[in-house]
Amino acid sequence: MTETFYEVLRRQGITRRSFLKFCSLTATSLGLSAAAMPKIAQALETKPRTPVLWLHGLECTCCSESFIRSAHPLTKDVVLSMLSLDYDDTLMAAAGHQAEAIIEQVKAKYKGNYIVAVEGNPPLNEDGMFCIQGGRPFVEKLKETCADAKAVIAWGSCAAYGCVQAARPNPTRATPIGKVISGKPIINVPGCPPIAEVMTGVVTYMLTFDRIPALDRQGRPKMFYGQRIHDKCYRRGHFDAGQFIEAWDDESAKKGFCLYKMGCKGPTTYNACSSMRWNGGISWPVQSGHGCLGCSEDGFWDKGSFYDRVTGIHQFGIEANADAIGAAVAIGTGAGIAAHAALTALDSMRKRVSQKEAAQEGVEA
Ligand code: SF4
Ligand code: SF4
Repeated sequence: MTETFYEVLRRQGITRRSFLKFCSLTATSLGLSAAAMPKIAQALETKPRTPVLWLHGLECTCCSESFIRSAHPLTKDVVLSMLSLDYDDTLMAAAGHQAEAIIEQVKAKYKGNYIVAVEGNPPLNEDGMFCIQGGRPFVEKLKETCADAKAVIAWGSCAAYGCVQAARPNPTRATPIGKVISGKPIINVPGCPPIAEVMTGVVTYMLTFDRIPALDRQGRPKMFYGQRIHDKCYRRGHFDAGQFIEAWDDESAKKGFCLYKMGCKGPTTYNACSSMRWNGGISWPVQSGHGCLGCSEDGFWDKGSFYDRVTGIHQFGIEANADAIGAAVAIGTGAGIAAHAALTALDSMRKRVSQKEAAQEGVEA
């Protein structure tokens, strides 16, 4: 019989205290009420591990790196223990025919009950010849593996949108998973790579509630992609005060002002980096002094330079104070602010909807 997630954790020496702490943290990160924690614990204690077939198309393996190199050891253990990772041609010891046979075994034994996790995407040009695995195009392997899956997780921006492989002129015709696979629930978990705890959270949710999380219009779990980077950025006060960095080494950079003028895409990017941060919460790109590239948005490679401003938000100058901003509004230069306010209002509405849905999830839990 397939072991439960909890049995595997105990076998690996994880204490019950750590296990419950993980359940509690997960409930919080999923935006669920405290009442959801026992349900998560019970599900992980009793449900057999879900078989997962992890495929790799055109990609750089940074999603796997994010997954297995998470700073928090428990997260790594959770990730590798929660799933019965039956096939992963990057991590597994088996190779060649022996490895490929595992896919067929899982498909036969767990028909309709296994998850396919895909990192990277299939190139379709020249009959898929730009990515050959086991002597045939990856796209064939992908379609066959997904045929009897319960759900498909598209890890990272390569699988979700195409990412750099699909950037213009896209010579190999690298194609997102959602445009190749149909008739299956597809959960897009974009980012280059996604945050390890986001990946863990998505898997935990699916395992606990036996359903896919609520998704936004781009197929991303709302619980992690429901807010803009800009909304939770600790430099937001400088943005609102019109205090911007104008050069990488200027005085404003030393003071930690806003990176918007240096091309930060935080105002148009939905992801959890500014709230969850990276590497166990130690830091994140904006904290290290570089603007957000917008890596969790569709087509971010083709949206112009990473260092151009993306929106038409009006600027007030480096050292503008509240009075200067007020004066600027008074002389009619507030169109950008109005646009920004409209965007913020729209986003607040979106947040309220997300919070309502999260509350509903808590009730259901
Ligand atoms: S523009 Fe970037 S650095 Fe500035 S507040 Fe928004 S997310 Fe933070
Ligand atoms: S800060 Fe922006 S570019 Fe960096 S990982 Fe997060 S979403 Fe991607």
